[in-house]
Amino acid sequence: MELSELKALLRESGVVGAGGAGFPTYAKLTDKADTVILNCAECEPLLKLHRQALELHVSEILHAFNEILTATGANRGIVAVKKHYKAAVAALESEISDYDKISVCKLESVYPAGDEVILVKRVTGRSINPGELPGSVGVTVCNVETVYNVYKALNGMPVTHKYVTVAGEVKNPMTVYAPIGVKIADLVRLAGGETVEKPEYLSGGPMMGKLVSPADSVTKTTNAIIVLSETHSVVMNKKRNAKINLRRTMSVCCQCHTCTDLCSRHVAGYPVEPHMVMRVLSNGGRGDSSSIMGAMFCSGCGLCESYSCPQGLSPRALIDEIKAQARMNGVMPPRGIKALEHTEHEDYRKISVERLTLRLGLKKYDVSAPITDIPEIKSVKIKLSQHIGVSSKPCVHVGDTVKKGDVVAVAAEKGLGVNIHASINGTVTDITQKYIKIENI
Ligand code: SF4
Ligand code: SF4
Repeated sequence: MELSELKALLRESGVVGAGGAGFPTYAKLTDKADTVILNCAECEPLLKLHRQALELHVSEILHAFNEILTATGANRGIVAVKKHYKAAVAALESEISDYDKISVCKLESVYPAGDEVILVKRVTGRSINPGELPGSVGVTVCNVETVYNVYKALNGMPVTHKYVTVAGEVKNPMTVYAPIGVKIADLVRLAGGETVEKPEYLSGGPMMGKLVSPADSVTKTTNAIIVLSETHSVVMNKKRNAKINLRRTMSVCCQCHTCTDLCSRHVAGYPVEPHMVMRVLSNGGRGDSSSIMGAMFCSGCGLCESYSCPQGLSPRALIDEIKAQARMNGVMPPRGIKALEHTEHEDYRKISVERLTLRLGLKKYDVSAPITDIPEIKSVKIKLSQHIGVSSKPCVHVGDTVKKGDVVAVAAEKGLGVNIHASINGTVTDITQKYIKIENI
């Protein structure tokens, strides 16, 4: 298939990055990249979906991956997978000899291996400069479920479902292939319900995920729902507000430098120095402003606040505030900075996922979450904005009957966008600026 044809198909079929920010996949694919990486790093503790999807659908995923290589003209495809995902690695090795251009790169179990800056460097040795994308070094990165969605699109099936791991304080942790728009509370109920009295719900991993309401719904980027008690330290950290974070910084940051020593972007050669940001904030904003500009390249991995700081401070949360303020004021990250090729003691600064899981107090939840079929879902609220770019526009009306896979909202004519599809059969019962509700009762 021609690249332009594949791109049009992916836009129509609603394929976006299945996780992270949901970057539309058609806009990522380019004939300028010589390497495409299939990302199965999956480094957030408790998440299991990508390794399981790869094991289950290895033929389909490798087929679609090869189609991407053919359409883009890339010389090689590399599947980057943690070496201890033994079942996924075995599945890959049983099929990979059918593809000349595809090889496997086995990764260590470290966090955050899935950050594209870190992944591209580990897999290809190429350094992406601060503020640039993998395309700047001739690489495209897609994750496992995204490529599975490409396979489905090639076979006439748009994106209607999402793999979601449901873990933590639930009776039966599981990974489900959920219709997009299903309520989080419904998935938790299917996993046997909450096992704590005052639960909180995290969408995504414990490091980068956000607290959400159980009434919220699954989108094309929801990787996991993790239920924890409201008194769990992961939850309490995420609930602390900026004022409290700042006050604690001013009183107890001892400038030990550990947050910078272990900062994943600093180790990747970026000018991110959380200890300097904390120093400037402790001094009421006075001091070296270059550290504030450098903080724009923070990936939000959360190591500084959840792992490194001996005082339990939250550099990441404060840097998030700074980045939000900068965006509001139209301040752009500095350009033209080069990433350092090698940083001191790089190899000794890798954080093992197992150790991180222990430190977060999540070890007891790190159990199997097998892929499990779920019963028919009767009601979904499908969000109109599930990807980076412009929201999709509804093309159905209240009272319309729709079938799974029908287009219910179309990509905006200008800007990044994709179509959105019905994830169940039913009747459209509500349309707002944010979502389309479909019921089948
Ligand atoms: S690790 Fe904590 S105490 Fe040490 S410099 Fe960073 S924020 Fe301050
Ligand atoms: S969240 Fe903290 S550790 Fe991660 S990149 Fe940002 S400053 Fe560095």
